[in-house]
Amino acid sequence: MHDRVLITGGAGFIGSHLCARFLKEGAEVTCIDNLSTGSLENIAPFFENERFTFTKYDVTQYLHVEGGLDLILHFASPASPADYLEMPIQTLKVGSLGTHKVLGLAKSKKARFLLASTSEVYGDPLQHPQKETYLGNVDPVGLRGVYDEAKRFAEALVMAYHRNHGIRTHIARIFNTYGPFMRMDDGRALPNFITQALRGEPLTVYGDGSQTRSFCYIDDIVEGIFRLCQTDYAGPVNLGNPDEVSIIEMARMVISRVGSRSGIEFMELPEGDPVVRQPDITLARSLLHWVPQVDRQTGLDRTLEYFRKHIEDAPRNG
Ligand code: UDP
Repeated sequence: MHDRVLITGGAGFIGSHLCARFLKEGAEVTCIDNLSTGSLENIAPFFENERFTFTKYDVTQYLHVEGGLDLILHFASPASPADYLEMPIQTLKVGSLGTHKVLGLAKSKKARFLLASTSEVYGDPLQHPQKETYLGNVDPVGLRGVYDEAKRFAEALVMAYHRNHGIRTHIARIFNTYGPFMRMDDGRALPNFITQALRGEPLTVYGDGSQTRSFCYIDDIVEGIFRLCQTDYAGPVNLGNPDEVSIIEMARMVISRVGSRSGIEFMELPEGDPVVRQPDITLARSLLHWVPQVDRQTGLDRTLEYFRKHIEDAPRNG
């Protein structure tokens, strides 16, 4: 059991779900977020819980937390391509300086540490599906390099703290994740497609839509992260749903589940956009006895329900 948990980026999409999960488990949860991409709305329900505290803070600065800590989940970082392309330097800083500060805190508190890493460490992969042993195909000077290299550096730093300081650490390589509390305007495929379909606007498919992704529902990712923290395994572990789908097929599925009259508008493929992506989850299956439980249709319907409720308040893109 983790009695006192610190979650950086706790007001973000995955972070806020983790706050909810650890509160439910009876932990005391401290959430730190600079709100650059996260939002207070995501954590508003927790404020009435006396085991929850929030501090607005940028973890690239010196970090002080009163009292003991058992577990630190480091989720602070812009994570959508649109966000990290808009905040390239902040993204590099939080992955490097931020990870350093948070690891320093873990060391001083003798806390367990989990890094939110990403399938982006594999870049535009030449091995398919991607196993943890694949070393990746990343262009350090490409536009996505700011995120990919920051996370690769973060992984290296985590392993160095583990090896040199004996900290108990974990690295979760998280693949595309979706669900309630995603920001509607974060620029990612599913929030874009869903808001466009709900508004009857054309769905913006980049390139010809033949590129693939494997989308995992948030509850499955949270369960995987929770289980990983109970192990003593320090190496990287892929967490994602191997259900691979082309982006055009996903767009068509959104139109159909919404019952929308929207068409599809093809737009230029962004630079460095990976052609394929699918996690090999053999390791997570055996180590965590974990497999995603929520199928694409169920997950999409639950996400739609959330977006329908929030669409009225959201600003329009463009
Ligand atoms: N994409 C798209 N239309 C959009 C947003 C994204 O076709 O409005 C594509 C994007 O080019 C990529 C895929 O959908 O191939 C997934 O993009 P996302 O931004 O969700 O995350 P990524 O997996 O690229 O980090």
